[in-house]
Amino acid sequence: MTGGSLLEVDHLTKSYARGGVFGRQSFDAVRDVSFSLPAERPEVFAIIGESGSGKTTLARMILNMITPTAGSIRFRGGELTALRSRSDRLAFMKQVQPIFQNPFEAFNPLKRVDRYLLISARNFLGAKSRTERERAADGALNKVGLSLAEIRRRFPHELSGGQLQRVAIARALISEPSLLVADEPVSMVDASLRMSIVNLFRTLRDDLGVSIIYITHDLATAYYISDRIIIMRKGEVVESGPARSVLDKPKHPYSQLLKDSLLSPDPSGKGVLTGTSPAVRQVRAGTHGSEPETQALRLNERSPHEAER
Ligand code: ADP
Ligand code: MG
Repeated sequence: MTGGSLLEVDHLTKSYARGGVFGRQSFDAVRDVSFSLPAERPEVFAIIGESGSGKTTLARMILNMITPTAGSIRFRGGELTALRSRSDRLAFMKQVQPIFQNPFEAFNPLKRVDRYLLISARNFLGAKSRTERERAADGALNKVGLSLAEIRRRFPHELSGGQLQRVAIARALISEPSLLVADEPVSMVDASLRMSIVNLFRTLRDDLGVSIIYITHDLATAYYISDRIIIMRKGEVVESGPARSVLDKPKHPYSQLLKDSLLSPDPSGKGVLTGTSPAVRQVRAGTHGSEPETQALRLNERSPHEAER
C-alpha cells in the first residue's frame, strides 16, 4: 500500500497509430497525465476538456478497459496491470464503477431495467434469494431518489433520460464502490434535470463517501460541484487545482479561452467550442456563489442540444 491514495495516475500515456500503411505515425490520445485522489477524503474530481482532448481514453484506462502505453495507475496501492485473475478483476470492478454518457445506449432497449440491478446484486453481492436482490436494488435506487416499485418491469424507453441515468447510477452503486467514473453523464440529459443529477454526485460523495471522477465539457456544472479539476487539451493536462480557484482565475491561455467560451454539447453529444458567449461572461461578472443552480442552468440552456429534447 502506498500511503493514503485511492487512485494514483502516474505519467500516463496512451498512443495510437494514425495514418495508413505507409507513413504510419503514432499520436498520443493521452500524454503524461498525473493526478491522485486521496483515500481518506472523498472528492468530486472533474476532468474538463473539449471533444477529442483525451477524456474518454483516460477514463477507459482508469476503468481498466484499455491498457496504457506508458505510465501507471494504482488503485489503493495496487497496479491495475497486475490484476490478472478473474477474482482480482471482479474485486476491482466492484470498487470502481463506470457511468456512461448515454443511458439509452447503456441499457438494452429490449430488457427491463430492473433486471440490470438484480443481476448486479447477484454478481457483485452474491445475493442468492430474490428477496435479497430486490432489497439491494431498492436500496441503491433509494440513494438516487427512486424506488424499485417505480421502475419495476419498465423498459428503458418508458423512462426519461434523467430517470434512466439515475437507474444507471443506482446500478453502479449496488456493489458499494469507492470510485465512480462518470464520462459526460449529463450531456444527454435534459437541461432542467442536469443540476439534480450533478447534485446527486455531491450527495453521494457526502453521504456514501464515494469519490467521483466527473468528466465533462460543461464548465458550469464542474465549477459548481467539483472539489478539484484538471483541464485537458490534446491529451495533456494544461491546468489543475481547486475548481474554484482555477475557474475563477485560469492561468493557461487555453483555460481562459474555455472560460470565455461556451463549451456545449452539439446534437451528436460532442463538446464543441461555440465561440465567445456573452451569457458566460454575464454569469461570471455577476454573482456566482449566490445562485449557482440557476447560473449553471442558464449556461446550459444555451446549448443547441436542448432544442430537440
Ligand atoms: P474525448 O473523450 O475528450 O472526446 P477521446 O479520448 O475519445 O477524447 O479521444 C482522444 C483522441 O484519441 C481523439 O483524437 C480520438 O480520435 C483518438 N482515439 C480515441 N480512441 C482511439 C482508438 N481506439 N484508436 C485511435 N484513435 C483513438
Ligand atoms: Mg469522450
